[in-house]
Amino acid sequence: MEIDLNRLSPMMRHYLEVKTQYPDTILMYRLGDFYEMFFTDAETVSRELELTLTGRDCGLESRAPMCGVPYHAVDTYISRLIAKGYKVAICEQLTAPGDQKGLVERDVVRVVTPGTVVEDSILEEGRNNYIACVYAEGNAFGLAYADLSTGEFRLTESRGEQALQEIEGLLNGLHASEILVNAEAKSLINPEACYRVPLTQYFDYAFRYDTAYRTLCSQLKVATLAAYECEDLRYGISAAGALMGYFNETQKRSLSHISKISRVYQDQYMVFDSATRRNLELTESMRDRRKTGTLLWLLDQTATSMGARALRRWIDNPLRNGDAINARLNAVEELVKGVRLRTDLMRTLPAIRDLERLAGKVAYGSVNPRDMLAIANSLTVLPVLAGLMKSVKSPLLAHLRDGIGHFEEQTHLLSRAICDNPPQVIGEGGFVADGFHAELDEYRAAKRDGLSWIKAFEQREREATGIKTLKVGSNRVFGYYIEVTKLNMDLVPSHYMRKQTLANGERYKTEELIELENKIYSAGERAIALELAIFDQLKKTLLAIVPDLISTAKCIADIDALYSFAAVSIENHYVKPTINAKVKTISIVNGRHPVVEKMLGAGKFTANDTDLNGSDCKTMVITGPNMAGKSTYMRQVALIVLMAHLGCFVPAEKASIALTDRIFTRVGASDDLTQSQSTFMVEMIEVANILHHATDKSLLIMDEIGRGTSTCDGLSIAWSVMEYVTNVIGARTLFATHYHELTELEGKLPGVKNYRILVNEVGDKVVFLHRIARGGTNKSFGIEVAALAGVPADVCARAKDIATKLEKRQFTDTDSIVEDTIGGSNYAQMSLFDQPDDGTKEIINILRETNVERMTPVQAMLVLADLIERAKHE
Ligand code: ATP
Repeated sequence: MEIDLNRLSPMMRHYLEVKTQYPDTILMYRLGDFYEMFFTDAETVSRELELTLTGRDCGLESRAPMCGVPYHAVDTYISRLIAKGYKVAICEQLTAPGDQKGLVERDVVRVVTPGTVVEDSILEEGRNNYIACVYAEGNAFGLAYADLSTGEFRLTESRGEQALQEIEGLLNGLHASEILVNAEAKSLINPEACYRVPLTQYFDYAFRYDTAYRTLCSQLKVATLAAYECEDLRYGISAAGALMGYFNETQKRSLSHISKISRVYQDQYMVFDSATRRNLELTESMRDRRKTGTLLWLLDQTATSMGARALRRWIDNPLRNGDAINARLNAVEELVKGVRLRTDLMRTLPAIRDLERLAGKVAYGSVNPRDMLAIANSLTVLPVLAGLMKSVKSPLLAHLRDGIGHFEEQTHLLSRAICDNPPQVIGEGGFVADGFHAELDEYRAAKRDGLSWIKAFEQREREATGIKTLKVGSNRVFGYYIEVTKLNMDLVPSHYMRKQTLANGERYKTEELIELENKIYSAGERAIALELAIFDQLKKTLLAIVPDLISTAKCIADIDALYSFAAVSIENHYVKPTINAKVKTISIVNGRHPVVEKMLGAGKFTANDTDLNGSDCKTMVITGPNMAGKSTYMRQVALIVLMAHLGCFVPAEKASIALTDRIFTRVGASDDLTQSQSTFMVEMIEVANILHHATDKSLLIMDEIGRGTSTCDGLSIAWSVMEYVTNVIGARTLFATHYHELTELEGKLPGVKNYRILVNEVGDKVVFLHRIARGGTNKSFGIEVAALAGVPADVCARAKDIATKLEKRQFTDTDSIVEDTIGGSNYAQMSLFDQPDDGTKEIINILRETNVERMTPVQAMLVLADLIERAKHE
């Protein structure tokens, strides 16, 4: 829309000037108690949030479309806009109306984007809100990511052929809510790897190495990045500097909690591709992408939000370093064995609030009195927690205990300063505790006494005037006033000064009332000013300890996550696994699927052994009926291996787990129609990915490879894939298949062993035993399962018939079965349209020519009656 700026009102002209600086945002423009949006922004927001669209005179012939939200509820509206993918620029009043002549000064104080949200009401407690930034140049990639609410800031890079894949793997684990990229990265990154979060292209200039390096140094207040072990990360620095530049551009304030940048050492963590992460249901279920039914759901018994976030991070990034894993396992063991310690932790941890995000709010400048009380209460618990852990033995627990900071002075100050139930907003005061500041107490007394002064004045005036209904009230516009009803108007003394006429009476002031009012108001104003000054002082005190608060919060988060592992392990009877760095053996005695077991209830899950020893059994070929439990078994092995790498106990009687670099899964069928990929194409892409990237230290779960194509092609592909993973890659592999021919490989291909899942056949019925045993099977019981699923009996009977014939002949020789079908002898009824005689043909022709849509009901009835008549004669 073309708008003539010269004709606009000054305020509207300013609005549009600001808007041109933030074209890709919704601009919320503060006008008094509202944030208003105008023109297209107003139309967009009214449509998206279903708000009323109004208008405002703006100097043009037609009014400007306008839509507003009250300032006190703005967070809710921002969060809804962010969830819909918008960015919101907040334009505040920088001077109070009346402070100066002319227009109130306004400017954008912040741009809120999905990855830079810091509001509690918008953030999810138990998960980090990451913003990521990727820089690509040739086949080198830099990745940086941060959580503005906690101050976490990390970077890494990958170079070479695998680089894109590695970076996508990391992005997949981050689940970032906003991703910045340079143009090259935008064209390369697979949207699936980042859950289809739009990739926002950021200025090339921001990624330039020297610009990026300078931006980082200036944020971290250093001359070189040498201390952060990232000097050599040329591409990582480009990404991190651009991300910091984006923060500067959108946040417009100092972010002192981002006080360091940490390097991610990729070889320290297992990486998953997106298919594996999805298949193993680590943090989201496949069906509805919720937490219920996932590994996170099972393992999360954390007591604090910090702990919940840490646990999620751990699950997303299992460890690959044996020492680090053992450190966690030993800590969990101590907690499992220490009933007393565990009970104490269970009682103490919940009293600690989200210190990490609270510290973030202090640094961000958005801390409020309630947050300060939460910090004070949490700090009070810290010495108790450290005391409880006084004699812990495991090095990791001792290290975490020693990482809990000492904040006695600040605890004492805050506990005295903030009252018990402070308001959330500071503007009206009322949050500093009585007795903290003598001067404040005096003002408050004056304010309190003021009320009794007013009461006494009211009484005196009633007596002096004889007006029994005389009242003294107050409002924001007039301050204190005397109110007299119309009936008593003749009794009003002459020194009463009339200020306002009401429908039913008049309001007055007197010299004495004005004097009282001044005394009371000035006490109130001074009290608020003093409280604000005290609040500023407290903020400064807290700002100085932000880094210590954040590092303490991290220790508490880890203690909480370890506690959660211990609690879950005890509740579900898990055992401590042994981690093998040298041998490639995965040996599990009576292993269970942790989530299925939990869902089924205690004692209902059948445990099974696994022995992948890396030499005589690298590949287990698992056959067995549909529904027998093949997928459950394979996932169970993957989850046990993964849990061991988290440092958690595992659902088994005994487990010895080889240090594993990656877990790959190829499970189930899924189309990716949005990417124009068929089920089989998706399957083959996943297989290709595994064959390219698996090593002899990887665990592969392959469920029914090759089932999406013809039997002959599928079997051939499955066969050669199995040969390749066993012979060439040498990974430990679980290979479930209905191609029973593959069991012939045992004895011929070293390292391959056959296993089957047992069932009992009782008459026509199949009983699933869910037990794995050596040897192959040549029956899938697919037709029995089809019957169980409710496929009509006729169809199942015919299927059995075909199966018997196929079994008798070569399974590719199907000609005679096709002849059977054409003969049509196997179905009780034939289709009306298949082999019609002349009479039926006529009926069909009539039906074909009948156009119901053009007929009246009576005509339709007549045609129907005619058809019935013809049918009777057939
Ligand atoms: P298909 O070949 O049809 O994909 P499958 O052999 O992979 O079947 P699963 O999906 O693993 O079978 O298991 C079917 C159901 O059997 C599971 O949903 C679970 O409820 C139950 N089940 C599997 N294993 C066990 C077990 N060890 N103990 C108890 N119940 C089990």
